[in-house]
Amino acid sequence: MALVVQKYGGTSVADIKRIENVARRVIKTKQAGNDVIVVLSAMAGETDRLINLAHQAAADPDSREYDALISTGEQVTVTLLSMVLNRLGYKARSFLSFQIKINTDRAHKKARITKVDTRKMREELKKGSVLVVAGFQGVDEENDITTLGRGGSDTSAVALAAALKADLCEIFTDVDGVYTTDPNIYDKARRLERISYDEMLEMARAGAKVLQPRSVEMAKKYEVPIYVKSSFSDEGGTLVTKEDKEMEKEVVSGVTYDRDQAKITVINVPDRPGIAARLFTPLAEHNIMVDMIIQNVSVDGFTDLTFTVSRKDVKQAAVLVQEAANDIGAARVEIDDSVAKVSIIGVGMVSHSGVAAKMFTILAKEGINIEMISTSEIKISCVVKAKYTELAVMVLHDAFELEK
Ligand code: ASP
Ligand code: MG
Repeated sequence: MALVVQKYGGTSVADIKRIENVARRVIKTKQAGNDVIVVLSAMAGETDRLINLAHQAAADPDSREYDALISTGEQVTVTLLSMVLNRLGYKARSFLSFQIKINTDRAHKKARITKVDTRKMREELKKGSVLVVAGFQGVDEENDITTLGRGGSDTSAVALAAALKADLCEIFTDVDGVYTTDPNIYDKARRLERISYDEMLEMARAGAKVLQPRSVEMAKKYEVPIYVKSSFSDEGGTLVTKEDKEMEKEVVSGVTYDRDQAKITVINVPDRPGIAARLFTPLAEHNIMVDMIIQNVSVDGFTDLTFTVSRKDVKQAAVLVQEAANDIGAARVEIDDSVAKVSIIGVGMVSHSGVAAKMFTILAKEGINIEMISTSEIKISCVVKAKYTELAVMVLHDAFELEK
Protein backbone atom coordinates (compact mmCIF):
# COMPACT_ATOMS: atom_id res chain seq x y z
CA MET A 1 0.00 0.00 0.00
CA ALA A 2 1.37 3.35 -1.05
CA LEU A 3 0.69 6.91 0.01
CA VAL A 4 -0.17 9.08 -2.95
CA VAL A 5 -0.59 12.84 -2.97
CA GLN A 6 -2.63 14.09 -5.90
CA LYS A 7 -2.98 17.75 -6.77
CA TYR A 8 -5.61 19.04 -9.15
CA GLY A 9 -5.42 22.50 -10.72
CA GLY A 10 -8.13 25.06 -11.32
CA THR A 11 -9.33 23.79 -14.71
CA SER A 12 -9.69 20.28 -13.27
CA VAL A 13 -12.13 21.50 -10.62
CA ALA A 14 -13.80 24.26 -12.63
CA ASP A 15 -17.35 22.92 -12.09
CA ILE A 16 -19.22 20.05 -10.41
CA LYS A 17 -18.92 17.80 -13.46
CA ARG A 18 -15.15 18.15 -13.39
CA ILE A 19 -15.05 17.70 -9.64
CA GLU A 20 -16.91 14.41 -10.21
CA ASN A 21 -14.26 13.47 -12.72
CA VAL A 22 -11.60 14.18 -10.07
CA ALA A 23 -13.57 12.07 -7.59
CA ARG A 24 -13.49 9.14 -10.03
CA ARG A 25 -9.70 9.38 -10.28
CA VAL A 26 -9.34 9.58 -6.53
CA ILE A 27 -11.57 6.55 -6.09
CA LYS A 28 -9.56 4.59 -8.64
CA THR A 29 -6.38 5.31 -6.72
CA LYS A 30 -8.04 4.44 -3.44
CA GLN A 31 -9.47 1.19 -4.85
CA ALA A 32 -5.99 0.20 -6.00
CA GLY A 33 -5.16 0.01 -2.30
CA ASN A 34 -3.49 3.37 -1.77
CA ASP A 35 -3.92 6.04 0.86
CA VAL A 36 -4.81 9.26 -0.90
CA ILE A 37 -4.33 12.89 0.01
CA VAL A 38 -5.81 15.31 -2.47
CA VAL A 39 -4.66 18.91 -2.71
CA LEU A 40 -6.87 21.28 -4.64
CA SER A 41 -6.60 24.65 -6.23
CA ALA A 42 -9.55 27.05 -6.56
CA MET A 43 -11.92 26.82 -9.54
CA ALA A 44 -10.30 28.28 -12.67
CA GLY A 45 -10.58 32.07 -12.63
CA GLU A 46 -11.74 32.24 -9.01
CA THR A 47 -8.50 33.51 -7.48
CA ASP A 48 -8.33 36.21 -10.18
CA ARG A 49 -11.92 37.18 -9.40
CA LEU A 50 -11.12 37.51 -5.70
CA ILE A 51 -7.99 39.54 -6.38
CA ASN A 52 -10.04 41.83 -8.57
CA LEU A 53 -12.60 42.32 -5.79
CA ALA A 54 -9.84 43.12 -3.31
CA HIS A 55 -8.58 45.87 -5.57
CA GLN A 56 -12.06 47.28 -5.93
CA ALA A 57 -12.35 47.41 -2.16
CA ALA A 58 -9.04 49.22 -1.74
CA ALA A 59 -6.30 50.37 -4.08
CA ASP A 60 -3.68 48.87 -1.78
CA PRO A 61 -5.54 46.28 0.30
CA ASP A 62 -4.14 45.25 3.67
CA SER A 63 -2.11 42.11 3.03
CA ARG A 64 -3.54 40.17 5.98
CA GLU A 65 -7.08 40.71 4.72
CA TYR A 66 -5.99 40.14 1.15
CA ASP A 67 -4.61 36.66 1.88
CA ALA A 68 -7.64 35.76 3.97
CA LEU A 69 -9.83 36.67 1.00
CA ILE A 70 -7.92 35.15 -1.91
CA SER A 71 -7.43 31.82 -0.11
CA THR A 72 -11.19 31.24 0.04
CA GLY A 73 -11.47 29.76 -3.46
CA GLU A 74 -9.80 26.59 -2.21
CA GLN A 75 -12.30 26.24 0.66
CA VAL A 76 -15.03 25.92 -1.96
CA THR A 77 -13.37 23.19 -4.00
CA VAL A 78 -12.16 21.01 -1.09
CA THR A 79 -15.58 20.92 0.52
CA LEU A 80 -17.32 20.20 -2.78
CA LEU A 81 -14.99 17.32 -3.61
CA SER A 82 -15.46 15.86 -0.13
CA MET A 83 -19.23 16.04 -0.57
CA VAL A 84 -19.04 14.27 -3.92
CA LEU A 85 -16.75 11.56 -2.52
CA ASN A 86 -19.11 11.06 0.44
CA ARG A 87 -22.06 10.81 -1.90
CA LEU A 88 -20.23 8.13 -3.88
CA GLY A 89 -19.71 6.14 -0.70
CA TYR A 90 -16.18 7.15 0.25
CA LYS A 91 -15.09 8.66 3.53
CA ALA A 92 -13.55 12.02 2.78
CA ARG A 93 -12.80 15.09 4.88
CA SER A 94 -11.76 18.54 3.82
CA PHE A 95 -9.03 20.46 5.61
CA LEU A 96 -7.88 24.04 5.58
CA SER A 97 -4.27 24.74 6.47
CA PHE A 98 -5.01 25.87 10.03
CA GLN A 99 -6.79 22.59 10.73
CA ILE A 100 -3.69 20.60 9.83
CA LYS A 101 -1.16 23.23 10.71
CA ILE A 102 0.72 24.03 7.59
CA ASN A 103 2.93 26.75 9.03
CA THR A 104 4.52 29.50 6.99
CA ASP A 105 6.54 32.62 7.57
CA ARG A 106 4.73 35.94 7.63
CA ALA A 107 5.45 37.09 4.07
CA HIS A 108 1.87 37.54 2.89
CA LYS A 109 1.17 36.77 -0.80
CA LYS A 110 4.42 34.78 -1.10
CA ALA A 111 4.76 32.94 2.17
CA ARG A 112 7.15 30.04 2.56
CA ILE A 113 6.15 26.84 4.29
CA THR A 114 8.20 26.38 7.44
CA LYS A 115 6.61 23.30 8.99
CA VAL A 116 3.92 20.76 8.26
CA ASP A 117 2.35 18.95 11.19
CA THR A 118 1.60 15.41 10.03
CA ARG A 119 -0.21 14.16 13.15
CA LYS A 120 -3.75 15.06 12.13
CA MET A 121 -3.28 13.73 8.61
CA ARG A 122 -1.93 10.40 9.84
CA GLU A 123 -4.85 10.02 12.22
CA GLU A 124 -7.34 10.65 9.45
CA LEU A 125 -5.59 8.29 7.05
CA LYS A 126 -5.74 5.56 9.67
CA LYS A 127 -9.50 5.97 9.77
CA GLY A 128 -9.54 5.22 6.06
CA SER A 129 -10.52 8.71 4.95
CA VAL A 130 -9.46 10.47 1.81
CA LEU A 131 -8.02 13.81 2.89
CA VAL A 132 -8.89 16.78 0.74
CA VAL A 133 -6.59 19.66 1.59
CA ALA A 134 -6.81 23.28 0.47
CA GLY A 135 -3.72 24.22 -1.49
CA PHE A 136 -2.17 27.68 -1.76
CA GLN A 137 -2.70 28.60 1.89
CA GLY A 138 -0.85 28.39 5.17
CA VAL A 139 -1.03 29.90 8.60
CA ASP A 140 1.64 32.03 10.27
CA GLU A 141 2.73 32.18 13.91
CA GLU A 142 -0.03 34.67 14.69
CA ASN A 143 -2.60 32.25 13.21
CA ASP A 144 -3.13 34.61 10.31
CA ILE A 145 -3.85 33.07 6.95
CA THR A 146 -1.08 33.40 4.38
CA THR A 147 -0.87 32.44 0.71
CA LEU A 148 2.06 30.89 -1.11
CA GLY A 149 2.12 32.91 -4.32
CA ARG A 150 0.23 32.26 -7.55
CA GLY A 151 0.27 28.61 -8.49
CA GLY A 152 1.12 27.81 -4.88
CA SER A 153 -1.02 24.73 -4.56
CA ASP A 154 1.72 22.79 -6.37
CA THR A 155 3.98 23.69 -3.48
CA SER A 156 1.33 22.68 -0.95
CA ALA A 157 1.14 19.26 -2.58
CA VAL A 158 4.90 18.71 -2.62
CA ALA A 159 5.21 19.95 0.97
CA LEU A 160 2.64 17.41 2.15
CA ALA A 161 4.27 14.65 0.11
CA ALA A 162 7.66 15.53 1.61
CA ALA A 163 6.38 15.77 5.18
CA LEU A 164 4.54 12.45 4.96
CA LYS A 165 7.26 10.79 2.87
CA ALA A 166 4.65 9.93 0.27
CA ASP A 167 5.57 7.45 -2.43
CA LEU A 168 4.37 9.67 -5.23
CA CYS A 169 3.18 13.18 -5.84
CA GLU A 170 0.93 13.48 -8.88
CA ILE A 171 0.16 16.91 -10.27
CA PHE A 172 -2.92 16.82 -12.49
CA THR A 173 -3.34 19.71 -14.84
CA ASP A 174 -4.85 20.56 -18.23
CA VAL A 175 -1.81 19.42 -20.22
CA ASP A 176 -0.49 15.87 -20.31
CA GLY A 177 3.02 16.68 -19.20
CA VAL A 178 6.04 18.90 -19.61
CA TYR A 179 6.85 19.88 -23.19
CA THR A 180 10.02 20.98 -24.96
CA THR A 181 8.24 24.30 -25.38
CA ASP A 182 4.72 25.71 -25.05
CA PRO A 183 2.57 23.72 -27.54
CA ASN A 184 0.29 26.76 -27.85
CA ILE A 185 3.15 28.65 -29.42
CA TYR A 186 4.75 25.90 -31.45
CA ASP A 187 3.01 22.77 -32.64
CA LYS A 188 6.32 20.92 -32.93
CA ALA A 189 6.61 20.90 -29.14
CA ARG A 190 7.23 17.39 -27.84
CA ARG A 191 6.28 15.89 -24.50
CA LEU A 192 9.20 14.80 -22.33
CA GLU A 193 8.98 11.40 -20.65
CA ARG A 194 11.30 12.50 -17.87
CA ILE A 195 13.05 15.65 -16.82
CA SER A 196 15.52 16.38 -14.04
CA TYR A 197 14.65 18.58 -11.06
CA ASP A 198 17.25 21.13 -12.10
CA GLU A 199 15.93 21.42 -15.64
CA MET A 200 12.36 21.60 -14.43
CA LEU A 201 13.33 24.27 -11.93
CA GLU A 202 15.04 26.38 -14.57
CA MET A 203 12.08 25.87 -16.93
CA ALA A 204 9.60 26.90 -14.26
CA ARG A 205 11.69 29.93 -13.31
CA ALA A 206 12.18 30.85 -16.94
CA GLY A 207 8.43 31.01 -17.52
CA ALA A 208 7.06 27.51 -18.10
CA LYS A 209 3.76 27.55 -16.26
CA VAL A 210 3.30 23.82 -15.49
CA LEU A 211 4.73 23.89 -11.98
CA GLN A 212 5.39 26.62 -9.46
CA PRO A 213 9.20 26.94 -9.15
CA ARG A 214 9.10 26.59 -5.37
CA SER A 215 7.35 23.24 -5.64
CA VAL A 216 10.24 21.94 -7.74
CA GLU A 217 12.82 23.36 -5.32
CA MET A 218 11.12 21.52 -2.53
CA ALA A 219 10.73 18.30 -4.53
CA LYS A 220 14.44 18.36 -5.28
CA LYS A 221 15.42 19.01 -1.69
CA TYR A 222 13.32 16.16 -0.33
CA GLU A 223 13.62 13.95 -3.41
CA VAL A 224 9.90 13.75 -3.99
CA PRO A 225 9.21 12.32 -7.46
CA ILE A 226 6.59 14.43 -9.24
CA TYR A 227 4.43 13.02 -11.96
CA VAL A 228 2.79 15.71 -14.12
CA LYS A 229 -0.35 14.34 -15.78
CA SER A 230 -3.54 15.42 -17.48
CA SER A 231 -6.71 15.09 -15.45
CA PHE A 232 -8.63 14.67 -18.71
CA SER A 233 -6.80 11.66 -20.12
CA ASP A 234 -4.86 8.62 -19.01
CA GLU A 235 -2.21 9.07 -21.69
CA GLY A 236 1.13 10.76 -21.39
CA GLY A 237 2.68 12.25 -18.30
CA THR A 238 6.15 13.48 -17.40
CA LEU A 239 8.20 12.31 -14.45
CA VAL A 240 10.25 14.99 -12.70
CA THR A 241 13.04 13.18 -10.96
CA LYS A 242 16.75 12.93 -10.22
CA GLU A 243 19.13 13.43 -13.10
CA ASP A 244 20.52 10.38 -14.86
CA LYS A 245 22.95 9.55 -17.65
CA GLU A 246 20.32 9.49 -20.40
CA MET A 247 19.22 13.03 -19.60
CA GLU A 248 22.77 14.35 -19.86
CA LYS A 249 22.99 13.29 -23.50
CA GLU A 250 20.60 16.01 -24.59
CA VAL A 251 22.32 19.38 -24.79
CA VAL A 252 19.11 21.35 -24.74
CA SER A 253 15.84 19.90 -23.47
CA GLY A 254 13.55 22.87 -23.63
CA VAL A 255 12.90 26.42 -24.80
CA THR A 256 10.85 28.68 -22.55
CA TYR A 257 9.65 32.23 -22.63
CA ASP A 258 8.43 34.69 -20.06
CA ARG A 259 6.42 37.72 -21.05
CA ASP A 260 6.10 38.79 -17.45
CA GLN A 261 9.21 40.93 -17.68
CA ALA A 262 9.86 44.64 -17.45
CA LYS A 263 13.21 46.31 -17.88
CA ILE A 264 14.34 49.18 -15.67
CA THR A 265 17.44 51.18 -16.60
CA VAL A 266 19.08 53.70 -14.32
CA ILE A 267 21.13 56.08 -16.43
CA ASN A 268 24.38 57.73 -15.34
CA VAL A 269 24.80 56.16 -11.96
CA PRO A 270 27.93 57.38 -10.14
CA ASP A 271 30.20 54.35 -10.02
CA ARG A 272 31.17 54.00 -6.37
CA PRO A 273 30.78 51.41 -3.60
CA GLY A 274 27.32 51.10 -2.09
CA ILE A 275 25.33 52.22 -5.12
CA ALA A 276 23.95 48.83 -6.07
CA ALA A 277 23.07 48.19 -2.43
CA ARG A 278 21.20 51.52 -2.29
CA LEU A 279 19.25 50.65 -5.44
CA PHE A 280 18.36 47.06 -4.67
CA THR A 281 17.82 47.03 -0.91
CA PRO A 282 14.44 48.81 -1.06
CA LEU A 283 13.29 46.35 -3.73
CA ALA A 284 14.25 43.41 -1.53
CA GLU A 285 12.52 45.01 1.44
CA HIS A 286 9.35 45.19 -0.61
CA ASN A 287 9.70 41.56 -1.69
CA ILE A 288 10.23 42.57 -5.32
CA MET A 289 12.28 39.95 -7.12
CA VAL A 290 14.97 41.21 -9.44
CA ASP A 291 15.78 38.82 -12.24
CA MET A 292 18.62 39.83 -14.56
CA ILE A 293 21.05 42.61 -13.70
CA ILE A 294 23.58 44.23 -15.99
CA GLN A 295 25.99 46.97 -15.07
CA ASN A 296 27.85 48.57 -17.93
CA VAL A 297 31.51 49.48 -17.97
CA SER A 298 31.82 52.91 -16.40
CA VAL A 299 32.88 55.93 -18.38
CA ASP A 300 34.21 58.96 -16.50
CA GLY A 301 32.95 57.53 -13.21
CA PHE A 302 29.39 56.96 -14.42
CA THR A 303 27.65 53.78 -15.46
CA ASP A 304 24.22 52.53 -16.55
CA LEU A 305 22.48 49.81 -14.61
CA THR A 306 19.76 47.68 -16.16
CA PHE A 307 17.67 44.99 -14.53
CA THR A 308 14.35 43.20 -14.94
CA VAL A 309 11.41 42.68 -12.60
CA SER A 310 8.00 41.11 -12.99
CA ARG A 311 5.53 43.39 -14.84
CA LYS A 312 3.19 43.34 -11.89
CA ASP A 313 5.91 44.84 -9.70
CA VAL A 314 7.17 47.43 -12.17
CA LYS A 315 5.08 50.37 -10.94
CA GLN A 316 6.12 49.93 -7.34
CA ALA A 317 9.71 49.20 -8.38
CA ALA A 318 9.83 52.36 -10.50
CA VAL A 319 8.87 54.52 -7.52
CA LEU A 320 11.47 52.91 -5.25
CA VAL A 321 14.18 53.07 -7.89
CA GLN A 322 13.40 56.71 -8.70
CA GLU A 323 13.78 57.59 -5.01
CA ALA A 324 17.11 55.79 -4.86
CA ALA A 325 18.22 57.37 -8.15
CA ASN A 326 17.50 60.86 -6.79
CA ASP A 327 19.42 59.99 -3.64
CA ILE A 328 22.56 58.80 -5.38
CA GLY A 329 22.47 61.44 -8.10
CA ALA A 330 21.71 59.27 -11.14
CA ALA A 331 20.49 61.10 -14.25
CA ARG A 332 17.19 59.29 -14.84
CA VAL A 333 15.22 56.05 -14.79
CA GLU A 334 13.79 54.41 -17.92
CA ILE A 335 11.12 51.71 -17.98
CA ASP A 336 10.46 49.29 -20.83
CA ASP A 337 7.66 46.79 -20.31
CA SER A 338 7.54 45.48 -23.87
CA VAL A 339 10.27 42.91 -23.40
CA ALA A 340 10.27 39.16 -22.93
CA LYS A 341 12.80 36.60 -21.82
CA VAL A 342 13.55 33.59 -23.99
CA SER A 343 15.63 30.78 -22.51
CA ILE A 344 17.16 27.47 -23.51
CA ILE A 345 17.62 24.85 -20.80
CA GLY A 346 19.49 21.57 -20.55
CA VAL A 347 21.72 19.67 -18.14
CA GLY A 348 23.87 18.68 -21.10
CA MET A 349 25.07 22.27 -21.46
CA VAL A 350 27.52 21.69 -18.63
CA SER A 351 29.65 19.48 -20.84
CA HIS A 352 29.08 21.10 -24.24
CA SER A 353 30.70 24.33 -25.38
CA GLY A 354 29.38 26.67 -28.02
CA VAL A 355 25.74 26.45 -26.96
CA ALA A 356 25.49 30.14 -26.14
CA ALA A 357 27.22 31.15 -29.37
CA LYS A 358 24.77 29.00 -31.32
CA MET A 359 21.80 30.61 -29.58
CA PHE A 360 23.06 34.13 -30.32
CA THR A 361 23.79 33.26 -33.95
CA ILE A 362 20.30 31.89 -34.47
CA LEU A 363 18.64 34.96 -33.00
CA ALA A 364 20.91 37.25 -35.02
CA LYS A 365 19.97 35.47 -38.26
CA GLU A 366 16.34 36.45 -37.62
CA GLY A 367 17.34 40.03 -36.89
CA ILE A 368 16.33 39.69 -33.24
CA ASN A 369 18.33 42.05 -31.06
CA ILE A 370 19.46 40.68 -27.69
CA GLU A 371 19.05 43.33 -25.00
CA MET A 372 20.29 41.38 -22.00
CA ILE A 373 21.87 37.97 -21.43
CA SER A 374 22.15 35.82 -18.34
CA THR A 375 23.46 32.32 -17.92
CA SER A 376 23.56 29.58 -15.35
CA GLU A 377 25.21 26.18 -15.66
CA ILE A 378 22.19 24.75 -17.43
CA LYS A 379 20.36 27.79 -18.83
CA ILE A 380 20.93 30.69 -21.18
CA SER A 381 18.39 33.51 -21.19
CA CYS A 382 18.08 36.46 -23.54
CA VAL A 383 15.83 39.48 -23.12
CA VAL A 384 14.37 40.51 -26.48
CA LYS A 385 11.54 42.75 -27.69
CA ALA A 386 8.28 41.07 -26.71
CA LYS A 387 7.04 40.98 -30.31
CA TYR A 388 9.79 38.50 -31.18
CA THR A 389 8.85 35.96 -28.49
CA GLU A 390 7.15 33.37 -30.72
CA LEU A 391 9.68 33.69 -33.51
CA ALA A 392 12.60 33.25 -31.10
CA VAL A 393 11.00 30.19 -29.52
CA MET A 394 10.38 28.53 -32.89
CA VAL A 395 13.80 29.13 -34.41
CA LEU A 396 15.57 27.93 -31.26
CA HIS A 397 13.35 24.85 -31.03
CA ASP A 398 14.26 24.02 -34.65
CA ALA A 399 17.96 24.78 -34.31
CA PHE A 400 18.41 22.54 -31.27
CA GLU A 401 16.28 19.82 -32.90
CA LEU A 402 13.87 19.48 -30.04
CA GLU A 403 11.07 17.92 -32.07
CA LYS A 404 13.11 14.71 -32.37
N1 ASP B 1 -5.63 29.24 -6.76
C1 ASP B 1 -4.27 29.71 -6.65
C2 ASP B 1 -3.91 30.51 -7.91
O1 ASP B 1 -4.74 30.69 -8.78
C3 ASP B 1 -3.30 28.63 -6.40
C4 ASP B 1 -3.10 27.64 -7.51
O2 ASP B 1 -3.84 27.61 -8.49
O3 ASP B 1 -2.16 26.84 -7.42
O4 ASP B 1 -2.82 30.99 -8.01
MG1 MG C 1 -0.88 25.74 -11.66
